[in-house]
Amino acid sequence: MRLKTSDLTPIGFNVHGQSPPLVDPFGRAVSYLRVSVTDRCDLRCVYCMAEEMTFLPKRDLLTLEELDRLCSAFVERGVSKLRITGGEPLVRRGIMGLFRSLSRHLDSGLLRELTLTTNGTQLEKYAAELADCGVRRINVSLDTLDPDRFRAITRWGDLDRVLAGIDAADDAGIRVKINAVALKGVNEDEIETLLRFAHWRGFDLTLIEVMPLGEIEPMRIDQFLSLGDVRGRLEQRFTLTDLPDNTGGPARYVRVEETGGRLGFITPLTHNFCESCNRVRVTCTGTLYMCLGQEDAVDLRAPLRASEGNELLERAVETAIARKPKGHDFIIERRRSQGVASRHMSTTGG
Ligand code: SAM
Repeated sequence: MRLKTSDLTPIGFNVHGQSPPLVDPFGRAVSYLRVSVTDRCDLRCVYCMAEEMTFLPKRDLLTLEELDRLCSAFVERGVSKLRITGGEPLVRRGIMGLFRSLSRHLDSGLLRELTLTTNGTQLEKYAAELADCGVRRINVSLDTLDPDRFRAITRWGDLDRVLAGIDAADDAGIRVKINAVALKGVNEDEIETLLRFAHWRGFDLTLIEVMPLGEIEPMRIDQFLSLGDVRGRLEQRFTLTDLPDNTGGPARYVRVEETGGRLGFITPLTHNFCESCNRVRVTCTGTLYMCLGQEDAVDLRAPLRASEGNELLERAVETAIARKPKGHDFIIERRRSQGVASRHMSTTGG
């Protein structure tokens, strides 16, 4: 279709109601948005949060209506995958109203996937409703299957509750993927157990390298476990066959021939996956980060609150996407081990 001058609007092309996709200067279309709906969590995982966290005042958070407007604006500009995260997204009061409302974009076909990342503690309560809102897959973070260790890692969590949540999701027909952060000296002896558990239940397992985000007590370098080493150890026991990567994300997948299940490795520190990056993140205060590992950000809360229409918001989003960097730059070494990014994962959204 040829564009006419009359198709130009102050915020770009708008042809027959279709807004143009968000494409960054490196030609990467932004099709995946991760939105943190709260910085609060009912757990305090040692690598993620300090024990004494100061949480944001409620007025700083985007309201559920603002979150809906923001997500919808991205969906109308070509975002087809939306991941709700946190903090712990399911502790945000009224969160199911947001899922219910966003599910209209699944019905319209604009959104291909509505999903979330959760610690699983509230899943027993919400799994059926999430499924009813069109959530088909979820990521559940689970670093250990040992109740005492679980309590130590999360500072007070109850493993049984998470396992019951996983069962509830499974019963509701939601596909579960288990995400485990590989931590040196903490759960490195349990990777095989996690793998066997996940694959026995028919779930994918993804291992994540600890990232230098936020100020927490233990030095990152002490927690860091290279997934290259983990893979090497697993290969002594299992046959791992590389699978073609089609997620556009940082995970590289293998098939574990002995279990038939899929295993993913997220290695932001040892591999660059930026060339295929299709994602951006919004914090619960409406700050848009174009890259998890860079500080540059654009405020979307002010334009959201400045008017009822979305023109200012769209302009801010376009400005941000035009600044999406080519890649990130995590470095773990002693002199910088408190993190290139001073924000916690719970703030940016994992
Ligand atoms: N509460 C939800 C959950 O537990 O999945 C969503 C937010 S949580 C911050 C998202 C993921 O980030 C979790 O899998 C968590 O283990 C991971 N995470 C937190 N801090 C991290 C860090 N410094 N490095 C790597 N992963 C981290």
